[in-house]
Amino acid sequence: MKQPDAIASFIKDENGFIIVGHINPDGDCIGSVLGLGRGLMRLGKDVRMVLTDAVPEVYRYLAGSEDIESAAGFCCAYTNVIYLDCAEQQRCGDELAAQLRQQACHTVCIDHHISNLGFAEFNWVDPQATATAELVYELLKKLDATFAPDITDPLCVGILQDTGFFHHSNAGADTLRLAAELMDNGANLHETYLRLYESMSVAEMMLHSRAIGSLKLSPDQRVAWMQITAADLKELDAEKIFPEDLVSKGLAVRSVEVGLLFREVAADKIKVSLRAKHDTDVAMVAESFGGGGHRKAAGVTMQGSLDACIEQVLAKLREVMEA
Ligand code: AMP
Ligand code: MN
Ligand code: MN
Repeated sequence: MKQPDAIASFIKDENGFIIVGHINPDGDCIGSVLGLGRGLMRLGKDVRMVLTDAVPEVYRYLAGSEDIESAAGFCCAYTNVIYLDCAEQQRCGDELAAQLRQQACHTVCIDHHISNLGFAEFNWVDPQATATAELVYELLKKLDATFAPDITDPLCVGILQDTGFFHHSNAGADTLRLAAELMDNGANLHETYLRLYESMSVAEMMLHSRAIGSLKLSPDQRVAWMQITAADLKELDAEKIFPEDLVSKGLAVRSVEVGLLFREVAADKIKVSLRAKHDTDVAMVAESFGGGGHRKAAGVTMQGSLDACIEQVLAKLREVMEA
């Protein structure tokens, strides 16, 4: 049996599901968790949705986002766990991962990261999919789910976030057809645009401005990097803001092939985001420091000072770009 069918039949036969996504949740993570959560509830299933980190402000307008529980103190007897948008089990957060390993009897993983080696009992990993939300939609169709905006809006958010509102190279005609189907089923694209791209707080805008002000270029102008220090975050009261799309700003420069963002989340803890315009495999760079992602969009959290991390990543990137 093909994995999507095996997963659909497993879900039909079972009840009581814990749905989890990754740390620092992005639009695809939130959208997939909510879309599947609401979809399964509509099918009469008992579902709990849990994340290690809080739902970022920008996604809190989505119906049901308040039902996503925090991993701290999470207690649930269900033994079926569905991991979404997680290339590894630990991506859901170390403590939650340990807790779920203890209690899970059956595990499902639905993901689109090429680095996913299949850690679950049922694995549906499709690197061709633009977003995990795309696979969740396929699964819900297999389950004969009925769709309404509370399901199609979050799925739309996932696809829009992971395709940069259809402008990344992964967005093809099929993506647009899929989005059209979601719209036929109630998703509001314009509203999603307003919520994702025109709803920043003043503090976030100031954070963008500060980061862009820090932009530096390599001598050949093919690499652009920005930094956000812990002091910036404190001063702008922006510690809880995760500026997802900021990293791609460097790519706006014609000569730039790779854009990087270094964000000092705590003392000696640097979150690095990497984006490539054409062929550079930035996942390879992220993986060499213990992170991961896709060829053109990857991330890693590193230990060390801001300057030391910048130096190490630039050196590794140079190696990859010259290979
Ligand atoms: P980001 O720069 O955080 O938006 O991440 C870009 C891509 O890399 C996303 O697909 C993430 O799922 C993935 N990613 C980010 N951080 C990590 C990490 N520490 N380990 C594995 N994958 C990551
Ligand atoms: Mn993600
Ligand atoms: Mn994704």
